[in-house]
Amino acid sequence: MGAPPQLSPEARKAALLKAAQSRKRRAEIKGKIKSGEYSVDAVLELSRTDDAIAKMRVRELLEALSGVGKVRAQVLMEKLNISPTRRIVGLGRHQIKELRNEFMKPVHATRPGKLLVLSGPGGVGKSTVATRLRQTGDFWVSVSATTRAPRTNELHGVDYYFISNDEFDRRVKEDEFLEWAEFAGNRYGTPSNEVLDALNRGENVLLEIEIDGAKQVKAHLPQAILVFLEPPSWEELVARLEGRGTDGPERRAHRLELAQEELAAASFFDHVVVNDEVERVVGLLVSFAS
Ligand code: ADP
Ligand code: 5GP
Repeated sequence: MGAPPQLSPEARKAALLKAAQSRKRRAEIKGKIKSGEYSVDAVLELSRTDDAIAKMRVRELLEALSGVGKVRAQVLMEKLNISPTRRIVGLGRHQIKELRNEFMKPVHATRPGKLLVLSGPGGVGKSTVATRLRQTGDFWVSVSATTRAPRTNELHGVDYYFISNDEFDRRVKEDEFLEWAEFAGNRYGTPSNEVLDALNRGENVLLEIEIDGAKQVKAHLPQAILVFLEPPSWEELVARLEGRGTDGPERRAHRLELAQEELAAASFFDHVVVNDEVERVVGLLVSFAS
């Protein structure tokens, strides 16, 4: 390839301005896709006459859709044989047809999201997997309320809503939890409204909760998909709990005692997944909700 053409200062300024306008236009369209105002169909249609949209990457279009994160977007593109850097303008006729079929209905009319419940013994890696899923955007991850004190690095509203015993009592009384349970001397509960709202928006929802809570969810919402995360071995579970370094020896021994009981509950679950590698588990969870 030869050297890029030398532009005069004016031409360079104009090119930069055009690029900035295109980026702005794409951001605007992505906002409309996110809010449900534009369907995939609408964007594909617009791309025929709007150069800025034609140059949008297919990956960006998919990731802007509610309920589609990085992992699902990648899976879909592989399925439709679309290369990761493909722009809308570069799609073949067959690929456009397949994409349209995949997202036939306008976003407003999408199905309610799927509810995935992730449980397993303490230390197996549930929060690691949940954090990763939150990052990829493939799931809306519920934030629980707890009476437990925050660990170093844990943030109110991000890891948990850290609330007092009295406040927890009030929320139980007002029926604000989809489920709640006591675990290792503390109480944990899933805020009902937030989860139901996300499902109604069409988002796939992930709850990372202990086993008793998972059973309660299944009783209320039988369509929930229950996933049990298992360690590759008992020794690995002990090593992970020690490696995390959040509990003293006594608390750790208590958690390991609980873990023995928890491991026996696997048969109640719809899927049992070994947490050998976080990215593999993430891919499986996305596929369970697809
Ligand atoms: P849980 O939420 O189930 O109690 P955590 O997510 O806190 O467990 O994980 C416990 C420890 O195990 C953490 O130090 C985490 O980094 C580590 N861990 C999680 N998943 C894996 C994995 N697949 N391989 C190796 N270490 C892991
Ligand atoms: P940790 O104290 O290690 O954050 O969590 C202890 C246990 O409580 C874990 O098994 C975690 O999955 C579970 N947990 C967290 N939030 C909830 C919740 O809202 N409900 C229930 N039932 N369990 C929860």
